[in-house]
Amino acid sequence: MEVLSYWQKETETLPLGDLRALQLKRFQERMVHVYEHSPMYRRKYDEAGITPGDIRTLEDIRKVPFTVKEELRESQARFPPWGDFMCVPPEEGVRVFQTTGTTGIPVKVLLNKKDWTVHFYDQFMHFMHGYGIKTTDILFVPFGYGLYIAWWGFQAALEQAGVMIVPGGAQSSRDRVKNMLDWDATVVCGTPTYLLYLGETARKMGVSLPESKIRIVVAAGEPGANVPATKAAIEELYGARCYDDIGSSEISNFGFECVAQQGTHVIESMFYAECLDPDTLEPVGPGEVGELVLSNLCTESMPLLRYRMKDLVRFNRDRCDCGRTFLRLEGGILGRSDDMFQFAGVNIFPSGIENLIRQVKEFSSEYQIVVPRQGSGKRMKIRVEPASDRVSGPEMERAVSRFIEAFKYRITVTPDVEVAEVGELPRFELKAKRLIRET
Ligand SMILES: [Zn+2]
Repeated sequence: MEVLSYWQKETETLPLGDLRALQLKRFQERMVHVYEHSPMYRRKYDEAGITPGDIRTLEDIRKVPFTVKEELRESQARFPPWGDFMCVPPEEGVRVFQTTGTTGIPVKVLLNKKDWTVHFYDQFMHFMHGYGIKTTDILFVPFGYGLYIAWWGFQAALEQAGVMIVPGGAQSSRDRVKNMLDWDATVVCGTPTYLLYLGETARKMGVSLPESKIRIVVAAGEPGANVPATKAAIEELYGARCYDDIGSSEISNFGFECVAQQGTHVIESMFYAECLDPDTLEPVGPGEVGELVLSNLCTESMPLLRYRMKDLVRFNRDRCDCGRTFLRLEGGILGRSDDMFQFAGVNIFPSGIENLIRQVKEFSSEYQIVVPRQGSGKRMKIRVEPASDRVSGPEMERAVSRFIEAFKYRITVTPDVEVAEVGELPRFELKAKRLIRET
């Protein structure tokens, strides 16, 4: 393991009892804050007959109503543009973003100066130290400037910390490969999908990234960094360590992998995390899969309390080899609860299928999963592509039958596999959409 580094060692390694006491105190403060400053929260809590004074223990937090994305959307539709969940006047805002809109109309996000320069900074400093990034590192950001939050907070925080930033927006992937090398980048960030694409582009150009100075790759925006085969593929392409980074526009940046690479830590001093059964909304035990529910414990502009992330996770509360007492998400985000599907009586995560596909060297990293309508009697279909023109027909056939055997064994369902032409399947720079449900 590399040399350990912490941002706030004392809180990161707090004994659990002290950590829970800190979380309770901060939750109580946030609840007073939203109750006093946000009409939406006051209305919700009045309707539920609960006041901030009712929260005396961590157990009491379960009495607090959930917050869901649909409410934020409705609030902004009723009271445009910001809605009535903001806790600061818009004039205080210094940064705005919007959610990607993958699941509906985008939600506008506003941050005041303290959230942007203190709270976001603190969050990303946990990430930076967790990954072992140093101020002598050089970060290449292959991402275009826009309303989507990804990388702007990370870039601003690392810049504030003294890391050199090389902007990689508005360039082709080939130019990005050249620039990473020309500017001696040591750290690169991106979605797992784009990082794989960029790495493949380098290979096609005859550039060996493992011989470059890149030593750390930070992956966010999709579950990939913690899908073992995807992580391994990225690490091999770049000759670097690949670390998971988890956040969302609405809740901000809560999860980072440490150098032990044994799950993704939640910054528990800044977030309160619950893992609940998606149907009963009762807590599930460590090691069991449930839906992640998060509360902001520090931010000012739009803290979300008991926000249903709709992400499925598995908590590990054992102390990590890095010494942090912050809980870990085993395997990071396992998938969207909306994306998990049932087929032939089996619960299936698309990330589980991705892991199998990316273990097959003859396949490219792109794929599609086509799930037939229930009761149609059809098999699930997996579309894959050869990794390159050099993979022969017979090699591909053998790879497909090996894949089907592995699929039957792991997923316990027999799929049909369709082989597309090289480069035929869609590519994504942001959130990939590879699951197709037939209706
Ligand atoms: Zn750790």
